[in-house]
Amino acid sequence: MKHFTKSKEKLFEEFGTNLKGLSNSEVEIRLKKHGKNSLVEKKKDGILKIFFGQFKDSLVIILIIASIISFFSGNEESTVVIILVIVLNAVIGTVQSVKAQKSLDSLKKMSSPKCKVIRNGENLEIDSSNIVPGDIIIIEAGDVVPADGRIIENFSLLVNENSLTAESNSIEKSDMILDYHDSALGDQINMVFSGSLVNYGRAKVLVTETGMKTELGKIAGLLDNTIESETPLQKALNIFGKRLTIGIIVLCTFIFGVYVFHGNTILDSLLLAVALAVAAIPESLSPIITIILSLETEKLSKENAIVKELKSIEALGSISVICSDKTGTLTQNKMTVEKVYINEELIDKKDLNKNNNYHQLLLNSCILCSDATDTIGDPTETALIHLAQNYDYSFKDIRNINQRLSEIPFDSVRKLMTASYSIDNKITIFTKGAFDSLVSRFTHYVDKNGNIVEVNEEFLVEIESINDSLAEDGLRVLTFAFKYADENEALTIYDENGYIFLGMIAMIDPPREESKLAVQECIRGGIKPVMITGDHKVTARTIAKNIGIYKDGDMVLEGVELEKMSDEELEKNVDKISVYARVSPEHKIRIVSAWQKLGKICAMTGDGVNDAPALKKANIGIAMGITGTEVSKNAASLILADDNFSTIVKAIITGRNVYRNIKNAIGFLLSGNASAILAVMYTSFSNLPIIFSPVQLLFINLLTDSLPSIAVGVEPKNLDILDEKPRDPNEAILTKKFTSKLVFEGLLLAIFIIVAFYIGLQENALKASTMAFATLCLARLFHGINYRGQKNVFAIGFFKNKFAIFAFLIGFILLNTVLLTPALYKTFGITKLEPINFIQIYVLSIIPTILIQIYKAIRYR
Ligand code: ADP
Ligand code: MG
Repeated sequence: MKHFTKSKEKLFEEFGTNLKGLSNSEVEIRLKKHGKNSLVEKKKDGILKIFFGQFKDSLVIILIIASIISFFSGNEESTVVIILVIVLNAVIGTVQSVKAQKSLDSLKKMSSPKCKVIRNGENLEIDSSNIVPGDIIIIEAGDVVPADGRIIENFSLLVNENSLTAESNSIEKSDMILDYHDSALGDQINMVFSGSLVNYGRAKVLVTETGMKTELGKIAGLLDNTIESETPLQKALNIFGKRLTIGIIVLCTFIFGVYVFHGNTILDSLLLAVALAVAAIPESLSPIITIILSLETEKLSKENAIVKELKSIEALGSISVICSDKTGTLTQNKMTVEKVYINEELIDKKDLNKNNNYHQLLLNSCILCSDATDTIGDPTETALIHLAQNYDYSFKDIRNINQRLSEIPFDSVRKLMTASYSIDNKITIFTKGAFDSLVSRFTHYVDKNGNIVEVNEEFLVEIESINDSLAEDGLRVLTFAFKYADENEALTIYDENGYIFLGMIAMIDPPREESKLAVQECIRGGIKPVMITGDHKVTARTIAKNIGIYKDGDMVLEGVELEKMSDEELEKNVDKISVYARVSPEHKIRIVSAWQKLGKICAMTGDGVNDAPALKKANIGIAMGITGTEVSKNAASLILADDNFSTIVKAIITGRNVYRNIKNAIGFLLSGNASAILAVMYTSFSNLPIIFSPVQLLFINLLTDSLPSIAVGVEPKNLDILDEKPRDPNEAILTKKFTSKLVFEGLLLAIFIIVAFYIGLQENALKASTMAFATLCLARLFHGINYRGQKNVFAIGFFKNKFAIFAFLIGFILLNTVLLTPALYKTFGITKLEPINFIQIYVLSIIPTILIQIYKAIRYR
């Protein structure tokens, strides 16, 4: 028998469970038996596979050819060294890949879905992967259904099962038994299936199937969870790299010709040309970018910003507009009731009268017309529960005595919530919501004497002005109304009228302390902050002004006004509008589009089920880790673990710094390569002896150069990045300015390398090569300092980047070890140096860096 044909009692029996849920010990047993509730992932590459993967590189192939050539040219030692270098290089590459993979894995864990479950009679929130068959889960609007199950209690649940059935409309669910015995998934309306989206309503579900046994598991097969790691920047660099490679090969062929022309053997010349090509082609760029991005992504997640894809970090750096929700993101989402308006009187929250019938009704309404408890749920409702608790109303008792008959849940378009109860044999319908949504729906009100009288113009003017004055103080106002009905009928939105106005409750939700500073940082960084809220215009403006988002002369636009505007009108005004009030999620898409039309890169926050399209449309969609729905988290590319606006700004600052660091790492590598090429070109054209041996070039390029380039890439972030405008995402990384800077620096380094070469040449060619090699290596190690941040290194903080110092020391020790180990002389093509030579090398290699630092100190004072 299929689950959808069974009664609830039978299901409870079969799964050994009840409405109070399973016990912890039972859950343990079932977890062992059924396993985790997750789809099995494709097996990841093992370390060995990653290691051998490193040898597919064209660089390595060239190197292997080089080692063969050098073997046949009678230079067996070089062959050994080249192979050693290849292996070492592969080890470094493997370590980097594994590290990058680890940080991505930990990120994936952090954004794993959660779900609400009842166990031991208590409501809990747990990782969806820990659900077992027999669990009672609660699903509501915005959730992704975590497992397959049978609906036990249903409140207007609407579910989209597009992922399973290709039916794009939402399906109305029910908790009734279905009596036909065989039906398609789409017709099993008392079941829900893993992976479907809950669009509306709420339900309790008995989990019947988990993990790979779910319908989704059956069709999904193995989940390929590998993240696409190639970012737009990497793609651009790969194209650039290919062009550069061709250029370098042409150049090396030319140099090969020059060497042969000058009477060197073909084999020697070929070997040199190949080594030069390997040294000049920046093959390590793309892996270095991956490692930098993944390290930074991991760091960001510790600062509560969880980036789902590496490329988002890059995009973050070019954000020029942040559209942020007010409630909970800019504010604390800690609502506290301040004022109450009832019986035509505005009173303090402490001055309700427990003996007044209507005061009682209002307190009951706070508890019955909401779903939150004193700790879990919508903070707006939690504030109401706290108010009632202050008058010794127990929400548990009151909800136990009164069973809800029917409800229309809150949604951000209607901005109302309605629930019906049978109280003292009368059907009472409570409603609460935004003033403007309710004002046209009541015909009567409770006056100061406790009589129910008909609404008149005077009264409407009165409550409107009360509402406005509360909003002026930045308070969020909820309006309460009720009515009686004769029959218990399922409520629909057409019942939400003919109400009796009961009162208003105003609550404060203070701005987060960090919001003000974060807004200032935005403005400094040329980023426009925009506030979006479902709250009242005046409430929103007061808070926006307080935080610094709204300035005199800015516009505050309401949802209804936005609807009247054409797209063109909106585009014309969008940069003046800093606050949007009473908006619904659909408006967010138009706001994003308008900004994008102006060429801006737009971030948009959202938490609700209906926010998903706007999050997808935005360049960076941002979801809330705490209060956000699973649907919004799925659609977003950044998740804020702390729901905090200032975390967005932190992420943007990181994004900008990461871009700067990557650019610096590129600059470091390319300018260093340029210095080597220029030195080789100079000596070969001047018919001087051969300046570098292949082993020397490989040593520098593959060992002493790769650590500093990563060090440059992980330079800690610096707030001075905010003095720059947002980056144009289409800007090429190798602008003319950047390229000429590279060439200039390469030239500067090359001059001192050639000087060292000439000094050595006074004795012999071998000494000259040794001096030039040591100077090239050390000058490039020093040169790493020049690519840390933007300002001079002392303004940045010399010791701030520990890894840079470590990288320098390693390189320095490696070089000196080679210079001081006679056994290596033959392989490296070097000779013994005198103490005076060491001093010459140290001085010559540090001068370019001193010059560049002085220049920087003057330039970025
Ligand atoms: P925000 O975008 O600021 O979170 P919401 O869409 O949540 O705004 O709320 C908009 C308005 O709807 C609020 O000003 C309030 O009047 C009303 N409202 C908010 N939460 C509830 C609720 N749980 N029940 C009824 N009305 C609510
Ligand atoms: Mg809200």
